[in-house]
Amino acid sequence: MEHCDYQKLNGKRRALKIIIGFTAAVMVLVTILFFVSEQTFQFVVCSILMAVLISYLVIIAWIERKLKRTTVYGHILDEDHDGSITLERICQISGYPVSKVKKDIKWSVDQGLLRGFDYENNRLIMDDLKEVICATCGALNLVREDGSGKCKNCGSYLKRG
Ligand SMILES: [Zn+2]
Repeated sequence: MEHCDYQKLNGKRRALKIIIGFTAAVMVLVTILFFVSEQTFQFVVCSILMAVLISYLVIIAWIERKLKRTTVYGHILDEDHDGSITLERICQISGYPVSKVKKDIKWSVDQGLLRGFDYENNRLIMDDLKEVICATCGALNLVREDGSGKCKNCGSYLKRG
């Protein structure tokens, strides 16, 4: 099971690229208007419009960076083997600071981009774990649905199904 809705994520990123292109085009238009303006009123309107457009672009760039980081978190979650990963580990792998990762993950979950885990004590627990009984020693292990693992008791490789 994928913990990141890559389809939705890529759709959002594509939409943002279109918005950025459109905004840039409007900015060019406003710049031209600014230079052909002959009245103070027109200068003022163009300047205000430009300020609004620049702020808009800054916000969009901020969202785009968040979406990019969400892709990284998705890959980390999908590649995790034992179904439990600490925020600290995510920070180590991604290179992003804890405070950022914390906020990002909450945001991504709210946006429906990351899913399929419980968040507790700075740790993400995947909810696609299955119970597997070790064929060698009979111990009960939890293994991810599409993953494999070693028995926690005897170290043998676990076979599912
Ligand atoms: Zn075993």
